[in-house]
Amino acid sequence: MVRKGNSIIKGIAVEELIDLLNRAYADEWLAYYQYSIEEKVVKGIMKDAAIAELQQHATDELRHADWIAQRILQLGGTPLLNPKEWFDRCNCDYEEPSNFDVVAILEDAIKGEQCAITTYSKLAELTRDKDIVTYDLVSRILADEVEHEEDLAALHEDISEFIQSMKRR
Ligand code: FE
Ligand code: FE
Ligand code: MG
Repeated sequence: MVRKGNSIIKGIAVEELIDLLNRAYADEWLAYYQYSIEEKVVKGIMKDAAIAELQQHATDELRHADWIAQRILQLGGTPLLNPKEWFDRCNCDYEEPSNFDVVAILEDAIKGEQCAITTYSKLAELTRDKDIVTYDLVSRILADEVEHEEDLAALHEDISEFIQSMKRR
């Protein structure tokens, strides 16, 4: 049956929306995995505070993936079915942890959040006045990504300052 919900989308092709949302969907799964592995391998001073934050962010990224999949289905699309597609379709690079030190891990994670902010602000600009439902979704996710960056940056500052103060002693 034709969806009334799709008839309110103006000035943007539904197929394009589905494609863009699938790209963001790939990003969210990779972000989820990145946090999930970082939380396990991270080492060093004050790592417990970092682990708590990384675990919370992993949960958030998985929730974002679920929201996006639901929207793709509402639009009549199919969320990516094969994880092999995640690397081909993602907007943001997967930041493979090469240095497990807590400061380096936080820097990798901050890079990921900054890319997510760029991606969702572009999606918000693109959907504003065209698809209110997707606009609302990407705005909610964008607010989470901004919060993620701030949480990680604040933690990065605290840990860096603590290390500096230890060195001065
Ligand atoms: Fe996310
Ligand atoms: Fe995030
Ligand atoms: Mg947080």
